Amino acid sequence: LGIAVSALAVSLVACGSDNGGDSGSGSGGAKKIALLLPESKTTRYEALDRPLFTEALKAACADCQLIYSNADQDAAKQQTQAEAALTQGANVLVLDPVDGKAAAAVVSSAKAQNVPVVAYDRFIENANYYVSFENEAVGKLQAQTLVDDLKAAGKTSGNLAMINGAPTDPNAADFKKGAHSVLDSSGFKIAAEFDTPDWSPDKAQAWMEGQLSAIKNGLVGVYAANDGTAGGAIAALKGGGVTPLPPVTGQDSELAAIQRIVAGDQAMTIYKAVKPQAEAAAKGAVALANGGKPESTTEKSGVPSTILDPVAVTKANIKDTVVKDNIYKVSDICTAA
Ligand code: BGC
Repeated sequence: LGIAVSALAVSLVACGSDNGGDSGSGSGGAKKIALLLPESKTTRYEALDRPLFTEALKAACADCQLIYSNADQDAAKQQTQAEAALTQGANVLVLDPVDGKAAAAVVSSAKAQNVPVVAYDRFIENANYYVSFENEAVGKLQAQTLVDDLKAAGKTSGNLAMINGAPTDPNAADFKKGAHSVLDSSGFKIAAEFDTPDWSPDKAQAWMEGQLSAIKNGLVGVYAANDGTAGGAIAALKGGGVTPLPPVTGQDSELAAIQRIVAGDQAMTIYKAVKPQAEAAAKGAVALANGGKPESTTEKSGVPSTILDPVAVTKANIKDTVVKDNIYKVSDICTAA
């Protein structure tokens, strides 16, 4: 018994010194923040999220170091990148997961090393902070704009095709749920529906091509969950000789999509202001790196969260949204043909 008690005393002393003492990479020196983005086929990540986060991190913490990686839609690659960031001494991971469920393993190994995780744009269970948009509202706005467009053109029935996002992305399920909540009772028929693996524009295009002979005739509109899949759908419709083009939705306000809206090839997109998103994530990461708490306005499944509002963009408000916020200049959008 004597031995057991002294062993316990030793372990208590060890615990005490662990709590108060040097905790390796966590104490002293410049903090390292890892930003792990999921892919590059969707242009937002390299064009907006990466530079805006880099800038926001510099503003929040002048001497913080950024560790950056992009997983190219490969969940296994992202896990390796997360482990590499931890090995390099990252103090916080800001993770936009390729696969929301698989990312739980990354969170466990980060937490085992006392490294907090910010779930960036896509939710991850047990993360320390979550920054995203009202994602069901994105789906509702897309679908409502499509229905409004059709009704304004005097249509009350006909076929719709629905192209959703990747099954591994928790946001895709929210977009889809929001869209169905509008479309299912709209009087239009969802004649065909597809969950696009990896959000791949090519796979969306191939699927749309394959559907054309069956649904082309009564086709009045296409719900596409983002601008990449919208681009694929529009290429398929044009290639299949569908004229006039039915209205097609999108998301992300990619430059190509804004140009398609101006040209009349795409009906709408969604503007999600990435700047405040990147700023909230960078500030939250710095707070966590310093042992503090991120500012949050709400919570999701127990994770403190900051949730921003999406805006529908049509030809009518391009100037009041992406141009006003300096995402694009009119001269970027209106290049000579
Ligand atoms: C993001 C969208 C993006 C999609 C494909 C979603 O999680 O919220 O903005 O278009 O992933 O990368």
